[in-house]
Amino acid sequence: MKLTIAGTGYVGLVAAAGFANLGNEVICLDIDDRKIGMLLAGDLPIFEPGLEEWYKINVKGGRLKFTTDSQKAIQDSDIIFICVGTPTNASHEADLTAVEEVARSIGRYMNGYKVVVNKSTVPVGTADVVKRLIRENQKIAVDFDVVSNPEFLREGAAVKDFENPDRIVIGTDSKRAEEIMVSLYRSVARTDRPIMVTDIRSAEIIKYASNAMLATRISFMNQLSFLCEKTGADIKEVAKGMGLDDRIGPRFLQAGIGYGGSCFPKDVRALISTLKTHDCDADLFEAVHRINEKQKCVVVEKLRSVLDIKGCTIAVWGISFKPKTDDIREAPSLMIIEQLLRAGAGIHACDPAAIESARPVLSDVAFFENPYETIRDCDALIIATEWNEFRNLDMRAVKILLKKPILIDGRNIYDPKEMKSLGFTYLGVGR
Ligand code: NAD
Repeated sequence: MKLTIAGTGYVGLVAAAGFANLGNEVICLDIDDRKIGMLLAGDLPIFEPGLEEWYKINVKGGRLKFTTDSQKAIQDSDIIFICVGTPTNASHEADLTAVEEVARSIGRYMNGYKVVVNKSTVPVGTADVVKRLIRENQKIAVDFDVVSNPEFLREGAAVKDFENPDRIVIGTDSKRAEEIMVSLYRSVARTDRPIMVTDIRSAEIIKYASNAMLATRISFMNQLSFLCEKTGADIKEVAKGMGLDDRIGPRFLQAGIGYGGSCFPKDVRALISTLKTHDCDADLFEAVHRINEKQKCVVVEKLRSVLDIKGCTIAVWGISFKPKTDDIREAPSLMIIEQLLRAGAGIHACDPAAIESARPVLSDVAFFENPYETIRDCDALIIATEWNEFRNLDMRAVKILLKKPILIDGRNIYDPKEMKSLGFTYLGVGR
């Protein structure tokens, strides 16, 4: 099939490379000249494990192309995926400017029947807006369908998730579009992953509901972590005991420094706005959001309880919002570093993939490639991202390199008893 993917970010580029890898002809369309220039020159603008291999194979095979020419991209394809960003706007809603812009271009240039697929995370009712904008901008009145196909990939595991999704949700009111979409995804569904066909509005809500549920689990555990600290319990043991219940399951029960990234924070905010727009209560999600904001401050409060921060140098392991990505959007580490700088500390930081993303926004930070180099002469160490690279280090050497053996483990990756026996002042979260 002939596909155009509008928006070559974390979602668009993976989807484009994934569909090309299944034999489709895919055009990546973006308004960012720099990104398209990099992709044409053979460089990936993002880090995502496994993506480079798909990119190289499919560019070589002529199935994956890149352009900023929306007219050509739209006219040369049968299915157009909208994968542009939907960040939070000033009113805490999803900003649909980019989605609307793509819809207008599709209307302006379409030359025959197209399936327009919304993969961007958008509030319920957006498919109708897209339909209206396409229709209003059409120069020739051709038929089209708008489908909602929310994306559930996890950054850091996006390639694996494309090949092995838990489910594929297709929201449509058109039999013709349904057949095209099911046939496009058939080769992925062959691995026994269900394709769920539903109405458009339910599909749009499924995406927000899924992210809000995961965010709720995280805030749930973070709130309980305070009780564990006050009573001498261990939140990791509590999570284990809960997770062994089949009805609950073990995932997304880790207490820590709060959720970040380009999805959970903005999607929870957008869901709150959507609920309010429709005169519905949003109390639960407001609490989830509030708990998360508070949690991002926990690390610095813990550090303050054992160190007068002013004039100290603090090492931070991990900048990306989670492991295996270079994405730092709304990463809790950024707020932690900002608070430490404001308190008069100097910062050493390292990250296996996110240093280049972080440099422009953290101009006062000294970056290091190596975790041991990062901590040399520092007064304390904070673990902000649970990269595997930080899990099994020589903690005796870490203690010697640090000026003061203070370890604030924001991701609970080290054992408190072991760290205390090595002589660290160790503070985890909820233990
Ligand atoms: P991103 O910011 O990485 O990429 C968006 C891309 O769209 C950018 O390259 C931008 O230049 C491009 N763009 C903007 N306007 C355009 C236009 N008019 N025409 C063509 N391209 C345009 O965003 P992302 O992280 O890939 O997210 C995209 C959408 O997918 C969002 O709605 C997001 O909520 C959703 N989503 C993201 C993830 C994730 O893990 N990142 C997972 C699931 C869903």
